[in-house]
Amino acid sequence: MLFSQADEKAKIGDLELADRYVRLARAIGMRHTIRLPRDLKRKFCKHCYGYLGSAERCRVRVNSNMGRVEVKCLNCSKSMYFPTGKKK
Ligand SMILES: [Zn+2]
Repeated sequence: MLFSQADEKAKIGDLELADRYVRLARAIGMRHTIRLPRDLKRKFCKHCYGYLGSAERCRVRVNSNMGRVEVKCLNCSKSMYFPTGKKK
């Protein structure tokens, strides 16, 4: 799967290629209207579609008051919010 390939590229430090895989996977996903699994959504910026799976690409903060995780993309400086998994 393309997303796991993006992961692998990021692990070996090739973030450019990771980004490319993300875009490719998104393009394919949109064409077939596939919804991204929840855990994958957190790995990619929904604003610029950059790969966020590595620490130097994003800042993650847990906001326990709001019950959410805040992920700031360092590529486009926008933030995303995800509910913490506590409700499960
Ligand atoms: Zn971004």
